[in-house]
Order: sequence, then structure tokens, then C-alpha cells
Amino acid sequence: MGTPGEEQSGAGRAKAGRGPDSRASNDASRARPPIETDSIRITRPAEVAAGLTSVLKAAEFTLKEPGLLRGINALSHLNQFDGIDCPGCAWPDPDRDRALNEYCENGVKAISEEATTRRCTPDFFRTWSVSKLSEQSDYWLGHQGRLTHPMVRRSGSDHYEPISWEDAFAMIAGELNSLTSPDQAIFYTSGRTSNEAAFLYQLFVRQFGTNNLPDCSNMCHESSGLALKEVIGVGKGTVTLEDFDLADTILVIGQNPGTNHPRMLATLQRAARRGARIVSVNPLAEVGLTRFKHPKDVLHLFGSGTKIATHFVQVRLSGDLAFLKGLCKEILEEESEHPGSVINKEFIEEKTSGFEVFRSAIAAASWDEIVEQSGISRIQIREIAEVVMRSKTMIACWAMGLTQQRQAVATIQEIVNLMLLGGNIGRPGAGVCPVRGHSNVQGDRTMGIWERMPEAFLDTLRDHFGFEPPRRHGWDVVDSIKAMHRGDAKVFFAMGGNFLSATPDTEFTAEALTRCTLTVHVSTKLNRAHLITGRQALILPCLGRTDRDVQASGEQFVTVENSMGVVHTSRGSLEPPSDALLSEPAIVALLAVATLGKRTKVNWMHLVENYDRIRELIAGCVPGCEDMNRRVQQRGGFYLPNAARDNDYKTKTGKANFVVSKIEPVALEPGRFILTTLRSHDQYNTTIYGLDDRYRGVFHGRRVVLINPEDMRENGWKSGDRLDITSYFQNNGRKELRVAPRFVAVPYEIPRRCVATYFPEANVLVPIESVALRSNTPTSKAVIVSFSRSQFQDDSVR
Ligand code: SF4
Repeated sequence: MGTPGEEQSGAGRAKAGRGPDSRASNDASRARPPIETDSIRITRPAEVAAGLTSVLKAAEFTLKEPGLLRGINALSHLNQFDGIDCPGCAWPDPDRDRALNEYCENGVKAISEEATTRRCTPDFFRTWSVSKLSEQSDYWLGHQGRLTHPMVRRSGSDHYEPISWEDAFAMIAGELNSLTSPDQAIFYTSGRTSNEAAFLYQLFVRQFGTNNLPDCSNMCHESSGLALKEVIGVGKGTVTLEDFDLADTILVIGQNPGTNHPRMLATLQRAARRGARIVSVNPLAEVGLTRFKHPKDVLHLFGSGTKIATHFVQVRLSGDLAFLKGLCKEILEEESEHPGSVINKEFIEEKTSGFEVFRSAIAAASWDEIVEQSGISRIQIREIAEVVMRSKTMIACWAMGLTQQRQAVATIQEIVNLMLLGGNIGRPGAGVCPVRGHSNVQGDRTMGIWERMPEAFLDTLRDHFGFEPPRRHGWDVVDSIKAMHRGDAKVFFAMGGNFLSATPDTEFTAEALTRCTLTVHVSTKLNRAHLITGRQALILPCLGRTDRDVQASGEQFVTVENSMGVVHTSRGSLEPPSDALLSEPAIVALLAVATLGKRTKVNWMHLVENYDRIRELIAGCVPGCEDMNRRVQQRGGFYLPNAARDNDYKTKTGKANFVVSKIEPVALEPGRFILTTLRSHDQYNTTIYGLDDRYRGVFHGRRVVLINPEDMRENGWKSGDRLDITSYFQNNGRKELRVAPRFVAVPYEIPRRCVATYFPEANVLVPIESVALRSNTPTSKAVIVSFSRSQFQDDSVR
């Protein structure tokens, strides 16, 4: 497959048994799930999202996992005031007037998975060796039920065995305290972690002596946070749910809410019904943005649904920046012809900086380049520009489709440029809305989970807790993987998540993990990350969102922050699956006591007896959380301050900044394509709920690649053909190849020479060094690939 000067990695390399460390390479091969393509069935994509099918699917999941009574208990509390916050996405719940069933099909799936009655006990691990488990699919692993006991995989063993909590913490403390530097440890956080656990966790990690606090945000909205902070002074969105009821135009860019933030469709449906213009900018025509039937709208369950997007812009992959520049160019050319009648001059003069430089740069931008790179005609750019120019109140939303491109930061800043032209920030019905994917991913950052927290936050920790926090920035996700791979990091601790499957370059990441002396995962269920271990490994089972959390002072609740900066409570209502489980705050506290010993003055165990005490500390350290215990008990919680929402821009210039960027053209060699990874509808992040993606017409399997029908015809491929995918990357002048074998070709409505596959299956193709400029986010939406007919005749390849 490779040519001289090219290094082959990914599945190909591991299969050949090469690599810098053969033990690591062998263990890393467990990163590859078995390939299953024989049963895959392809139909036409769905024409309408949600509706009756959604209701039936939700019922099926509930009956299959928690069963009727447990399911009703959990669902009756889901997203209610004082109930369980959905562990799915971070789309907000209404501030007032919540319905009884304030959730979506995917929320039901998330809850059902956690509330399942299946159990993954020590007996299970006695029966199943790590080697045998690695031969099972991710779907199978995730369906073995809730973990019930702490488990250890000792050096040289192929089995996990039970371990007491005391011995587990002693093992971790021993490893941590034997490191030559605290920077040799990495402490990862996933977005499920509550504010209380996150605050304690970062406090422990900093007192231990490192800022190595990578999180899943590094892989999703890092680009948004960086881009927005620079230009509007706040690294978060500026709108509230109520703004959506006031907007006359909503741009939805690089986002598929039908699968990833399903209740957003109800918000968009309301907007569509009152005549708002909704512009979907995306390479794939996703059904959720085409037509939607609200599952609660019984009267319309059998109709054809509501048309959501009034306009669809089928931009090519990585073409968003060019398209947005085209919109700005049309608007500014119109302003030149009709001065004073198109842009919001008053706002621009009073509230922004850099407009004239921006205007000159846009005037100099080439229309040919804009059209070629975006894949959108001048006529359609003009059509959408007219929608924007007519708008009085506009919201722009986006998600991973933007943030995981090489020019993600520049693209998001171009959205802000467009919004500033119309004065569309800092007033009702207008603003920016990066839609967060995991329920508390935004809150964890607010609590200090970041490898680069500002000095002021560290000073506050010093003053409150009497220790000097480390000042050197830590490693983010990509740099953590590289550090483990180099051998510079030796202990990896994950508070939730499925690190291996969420990260790029699966084989490289697997090798990195296997080079650690200890890997630890705080988890509710089994996943592939538990099978790719350091010399020793621990699984620490914890309470989930649905579980009752009883500490010494009685029953506790935790808090989370949604996509719109609302901090609110989450309280579990189900009996935990095992008496041996600990809550995440308790795990952090015990870890801190075992590791820090007399080095800490914090009374960790006192804090976890009553989480109000943790919130007291948060209130004293985190700006905006003052008086947290009182305010979070208000119905619906409280909004964190957001100066940009109030038309106040805390940037270096004291104003909102126009920013100039240049398009980096994507030039594809003959036979090459640009690939994006995406989720199926039966998937949330790395959790695989089922093997169907009914919105896209894919059933009984996931190993598919969606290709434009004309590209298929031109290359002689038919629907159902098995293709191997090779990705290409230039790393310091050296060509790297990565191979993912045997994907089923599916003709699909996607721009020419753009293709799409599901992650985590395609993560092997995403080079570790291929990252967004400045944010270091893996470019999972922009991988250069080619195809060849599969050299593997059947599904026996891994
Ligand atoms: S929209 Fe998101 S948060 Fe709401 S129920 Fe669905 S998955 Fe859960």
C-alpha cells in the first residue's frame, strides 16, 4: 500500500506487527473491534425526523433496558425541576413551564442505558479475559450492564479481578507519588462529570502539582471557546432559549440537531411555524433539518411534519469559511451600493473594532476562490445574503461540523464578523450559539477543568486553600496522547468517558495508553478503553446521574451547566446497581486523601458528607457562582454572567473585534476525497445504543461510507461494494498513510469528492498531528482519503 518515503500506520501497521514497541503494538491491536458488514442493509433515508417511530423506539429501549417500572421512575424525573438532568446533550430545558415528558428519543436511550437492570459483575470478568472481550464489538461491550465493583488488571494478567476501594486508592497513590514529576500524570475529564466532582478534581490535581487536565472539550468546542473569547470576550454562546422565540433568522451551520441535540428541533419547529427563516449549512442534507414531527404533537403524528429549514446550503467539507466570506462580501458590496442601508453602522461604530481593515480584506477576497472552495454558487450565496440582510434578529448555531476543521477558529470568527455587520450580538433574539454536545462539558470548564486556566483562577485557589498551584500550562488531549506515546507521561486517570474511542488516531492512542504504568477509568459501564491498559489498570465504578446519591448527611444532588450557561440541579431517583459504588465526588476525595496525605489542609471527607459544602467553596472561587447554594435551589437554577449577552465586550480592545483571515485552499489530488466522521442516530458520543441509523437509511451495522452517487459511478463502485480507506497526511515532510479496511459503499446526497463515515470506526484514519490551527482540536471533519476495493474477502479481518 505504501510507497518509498511513506510510513504506513493505523490498522495496516498493527496488522503487520511493526511499531516501535512490539508489546505495546500487540496490546494496542485490541483497539480494533471486529468487523461486521455482512448484515448491513441500506434503504432510502427517512423523509421526516422523530414522529411516531421515535415514540416506539423510546418505548422499546425503555422496556429492553430498565424495564417498565424502573423506566417510568427515571423518565418521570428526567429534565424536571429537581429531577435528573439528562446525561445526553447540553440542550437546555425551558426556564419555566416544563412538560411531563421534557425529553427526546436519545434522552430516553441515554437514561435507559444507565438505568439498565443488567450487571457487569466480578463473575463476568472471571469468565471473560481482556483478550476475549476485545473480540467483541463496542455495542456488545456497552450492553453488558452497569459495573458493580472496583476491578484491577494486574501486570501480566489477562483478567480483571476484584479489588477493595482501599487497595485501589493505595495503588493509585503509590504510582502517583513515585513519579519523578507530577507532570508525568494526566487527569482526563468527560462531560458527564458534575460541577461538584469537577471542582474537587481540579483542586486535587493542582494540589498534586500539575495542570494536566485535558477534557473532552479539547476535542469539541475548544475552537469555539478560543475564537469567541478573542472576539467577544466570552468563550461561550450568548443566547438563551427565549431568544430563539424572538429570532427572525436562525443559521444552523455544521450541525445535525436531529441526532445530536434532538429537542432543539422543537425549538426550531416553533420558529419555523411563526415564519422565521432557518438556513441549514451542511454537507449532508440531514432529515432533522428537513422535516420534523414533534412526538408530543399527537394531532400531527400522522401528517407529513413541519418543514424546518427554509434554505439548505450544501457546502463542501471545509468550505464553510469561504461561504461565510461570500456572505460578508455580498453584504458589504450591497452596502457600498446603498450606503447606510445595509449594515448596522451605529453598532459597528460604537461597539466594534477593526471594521475598516476587515472591509478592505473582504473587498480583496476572490469570488472565484470563494465559490470554488465553498462549492456554493454566487447565486445561492446572494440568496442567503439577502436573507441575512433582511434579518432584524439573527442567531447563528454551530457544532462539530465547524470546530473539527483545520480552519475552525477562523471560521467561527467569520461567523462573528457576519453577526457584527448586522449588530446581531448582545440584544434579544440575536447572538451566537455553539451547541454543546455533552451534558456538563461547559460546566466542567467553568469549574476549572482546563489545562490553561487563567492566573486569576489559580490565585484564588492559592488564597482559598493555602497552596501554590502549578503555573505551567498542562497538556490538552492531543498533547497528552503524544506525551504518553513518548513515555513522558506514565499515569493516566480518566474521570468518565471512553478516551480511546473519543480520540483520533486510534492505534497511536492505544500504543500511548499501553506505555503507561497505570491507567484508571472511573466508569458506569464497560467500554473499549478498559481493554487497552497500562502495565496495571483499574476500573472504578461510580454512581450515574439516575442513581440516588446518599452521603453521611443524607441524600445529595449535584449541579450542571447547560449550553446556555444555566447552572441547575440534577438529583438521581433510582436505587444504585450495587452497594459498592461510590459517587464521583467521593472517589476524588478518597483519592486526594490517599495521595496527598498530610500535604493537604483540605478536609476532603467533610466536603463529601454534604455537597452544599463543596458548593460553598465553588461560590467563593468561581466568578458568577456566588451564593450558589441558594440560587441553584430556585426553580430552573440561575444564569451565569455573560457580558457579551449584555452587549459588553471584555476583550483586549474593550469592543467586539472584526478579525481578518485567509482561506487555506483544499486542493485534492486525483482520486482523493475529503472525509468527515459523524454519529449514527443510534449513538451518543462513543456510546453505541444500537446498530441502525434510520434517518440515513442504514440498518444492522455501522461500517459504511457515504459517497456521492456520481463519484461512485465515475469510479465504478456500486452500492454495497466493500472498500478499504487510506488516509494521507504530511507530517514534517514525511508522508503518513493510515488504513481502515472494509467499509460498505453507500450512495448518498453529499457534495462531490466529500465522503462520510461513523466514528469511532474511522478514528484510525485521523492523524494525531492533524489538528485545527491554534485550538489543537483533531480535524475529524477534514481527513484526506482514497479508496480501493477491499483486499479482504470476508469479515474475518480486524
Ligand atoms: S435534547 Fe439532549 S438533553 Fe434533551 S433529552 Fe434529548 S439528549 Fe437529553
